[in-house]
Amino acid sequence: MGVRILYRGTPPAEKLYNGTCLTCGTRIECQRGDGRFEPGSQHNLGETVRVPCPVCTGVIYASPKRVTFSFPIHGRD
Ligand SMILES: [Zn+2]
Repeated sequence: MGVRILYRGTPPAEKLYNGTCLTCGTRIECQRGDGRFEPGSQHNLGETVRVPCPVCTGVIYASPKRVTFSFPIHGRD
């Protein structure tokens, strides 16, 4: 028997980020490759992706979308 995936995680390149433009209020969803990835540091808590706003000239700092884990409450085996 090979490896079976019980829960598929999200590789960094597929991870979704979302953010709101502080200048015009546009909400976007993006991936790491769509902007400039900035790992979290002591000055900003958590990683962000900096993307130019597609509507105005603002900059959007997108944060990782919250990942929801769904494990079955009752096992099937
Ligand atoms: Zn904007």
